Amino acid sequence: MTDQTLILLVVLAVVVLGVVLGGIGLLRRRGGGAPTVPPETAETLDPDAEATAAPPTAATDEPATEVPAPTPTLERPEPVAGRLQRLRARLARSGTVGQALLSILSRGDLTESDWEEIEETLLLADVGIGPTTELMDTLRTRTKVLGTTDPEVVRGVLREELLALVGPDMDRRLAATPVVGDDGEPHPATVLVVGVNGNGKTTTVAKLARVLVAEGKSVVLGAADTFRAAAADQLETWGSRVGVDVVRSDREGADPAAVAFDAVKQGREAGADSVIVDTAGRLQNKQDLMDELGKIKRVMSRQAPVGEVLLVLDATTGQNGMRQAQVFADVVDISGIVLTKLDGTAKGGIVVTVQRELGVPVKFVGLGEGADDLAPFVPEEFVDALLS
Ligand code: GDP
Repeated sequence: MTDQTLILLVVLAVVVLGVVLGGIGLLRRRGGGAPTVPPETAETLDPDAEATAAPPTAATDEPATEVPAPTPTLERPEPVAGRLQRLRARLARSGTVGQALLSILSRGDLTESDWEEIEETLLLADVGIGPTTELMDTLRTRTKVLGTTDPEVVRGVLREELLALVGPDMDRRLAATPVVGDDGEPHPATVLVVGVNGNGKTTTVAKLARVLVAEGKSVVLGAADTFRAAAADQLETWGSRVGVDVVRSDREGADPAAVAFDAVKQGREAGADSVIVDTAGRLQNKQDLMDELGKIKRVMSRQAPVGEVLLVLDATTGQNGMRQAQVFADVVDISGIVLTKLDGTAKGGIVVTVQRELGVPVKFVGLGEGADDLAPFVPEEFVDALLS
């Protein structure tokens, strides 16, 4: 082979190599061939993953392939009936009251010290002095008349009396069905939720939305706790899981009444069945609280009558909680109580006390942090759980 031929062959080889490599490059730019976006790019689209995302590599300098947004799948909240039954075990600590009473009453021929023990048990469970005295009086009479220590009979008597104390006949339905206003037009049922921060108010609003969705109702939420952006974010997250819209303000400290107004307006325009409005629970002075809640209620009523004002009360706060409850009851007409954190206390007697003092029924009880751990309050099931 001559030198000339050799040079020609080398030049030819270089040209062929260049053409091949160029072709591959072209293919890559058109998005053909091997993917230019590494699979982990899909994960980095999640804002939460930003902190842990790998630094961009040369390959990611090229335009990213569109990753289709995942289709949101809506959760189906748990049916409402039977929830208290499912959560019954969470009342275990409250149940110790019933067990203690049963064991004392079954001793027969009760002495004064036995009755003192009964009184102490009831007071420790936050039943309150008035209802405790009433219950003791009826139990004294009935056990004397019966003259028996038969556990089943004693149990039956105690069940009846506890039930009478809890108030089996109170109307505990949530006003959540659309109403026809003075103008003859249908309006969503509106629920205003009040209470001190930390009591579980925002989670209760979200859980209530799920209760209504489980019953086939359409719901709009109003995040009128404008002092905590986290509260609005929390509602949005929970709402999106069940397809519930949340009306909020992007400005921290915005007028809560304006947000409440917009929420009811949106609910009305969308033909929603219910609108639930969360409020800020700062315990300012009574006058400020009265002004704020009064204004929220007033402006909501311009769109639809406020059918329900629910007070959220933390069952673990005892007498302190009762004082807070009284302040709220003084500034706004409360129509029902949601007793939260009943899973973390032996003071189930607060059901009786709060109903007596505020003259309104406990409508729901919170028995955990799970999305469906809110149950309609059913007196019979509650008392049975105490005695089981
Ligand atoms: P808010 O400040 O009143 O709006 O209170 P949040 O809704 O933010 O709740 C405060 C805390 O209480 C959160 O950690 C909730 O998960 C918790 N919480 C709410 N309801 C219950 C309940 O019924 N049981 C338990 N164990 N925790 C609850």
